[in-house]
Amino acid sequence: MNKVATEDKILHELKPNNNRLPDYHMHTPLCRHAEGKVMDYRNTAGALGIPEICFVDHAPNPDGYDPRHRMNLNEFCDYQEMVGALVDHRSPHVLFGIEADYYKGCETFLGKWLGTQDFDLVLGSVHFIEDWGFDNPDVKQVWNSVDVTDTWATYFKLVSKLAETRLFDVVSHLDIPKKFGHRPPEKDLKEMVQPVLDSVAEAGMGMELNTSGLRKPVGEIYPSALIVTLARERDIPICFGSDAHRPEDVGKDFPAALKMARDAGYTHYFRARKREKYVVPLPGTLAYPAQALDGVHG
Ligand SMILES: [Zn+2]
Ligand SMILES: [Zn+2]
Repeated sequence: MNKVATEDKILHELKPNNNRLPDYHMHTPLCRHAEGKVMDYRNTAGALGIPEICFVDHAPNPDGYDPRHRMNLNEFCDYQEMVGALVDHRSPHVLFGIEADYYKGCETFLGKWLGTQDFDLVLGSVHFIEDWGFDNPDVKQVWNSVDVTDTWATYFKLVSKLAETRLFDVVSHLDIPKKFGHRPPEKDLKEMVQPVLDSVAEAGMGMELNTSGLRKPVGEIYPSALIVTLARERDIPICFGSDAHRPEDVGKDFPAALKMARDAGYTHYFRARKREKYVVPLPGTLAYPAQALDGVHG
């Protein structure tokens, strides 16, 4: 259930610093491909006036799924300790989350484990089609030997299944297969993505506007303006993430993401607490200095 938080304590407790968007997607070195201390991620957020951040490092999968990009299960306590040390009354407020992947068979472990942890937010991602990490630059040449539209169709089927598990709170970087510039014609994309968004809405899930795509060859926010508009039509609540793998990327390009949300008709976003979503008004465009929006085009 999404709760409206106009009078809620979440808005109240964070009022003085409430005119910037929280960043709900950042990693730690435990995933083996991020750098920097958790304190430095928070310091960057603090310097930008960001009121709240959520660490969502890659979930452990003791079944042997993709061990190169995630912590082991026995490192999870280090993650809890690292982030837990920042959970205090200072600003920016720090939330504890996880980015968990959907793949065939993931329910065996995640179905038991996620519910036993004290997460504020669980992002759901798809990074693999069978054993191909389609967003991994090391194997991007595989894109040259596949049918692009079919690949997207397969990817979207996996995201629909992700939603159907009801294990995740938010769908992350929804159109990430565009990372290196491979994408189907817009008409096909629209046709394929609508049932996925229906499943996301039906599952009561949120959707992330992820600015890391701007730092990738595609040079665009995930997902595209079209998908954000289609999500708005279905009242899918949104949150914002930089997907920072180093402290200096925290909060990166958030004015562009705010503009994208507003252009799609969004007036609200959500804040997370213990896996519940609290809907709050988007900051006004005046929340960011005018120069932050220079060069931001729809
Ligand atoms: Zn991801
Ligand atoms: Zn991530």
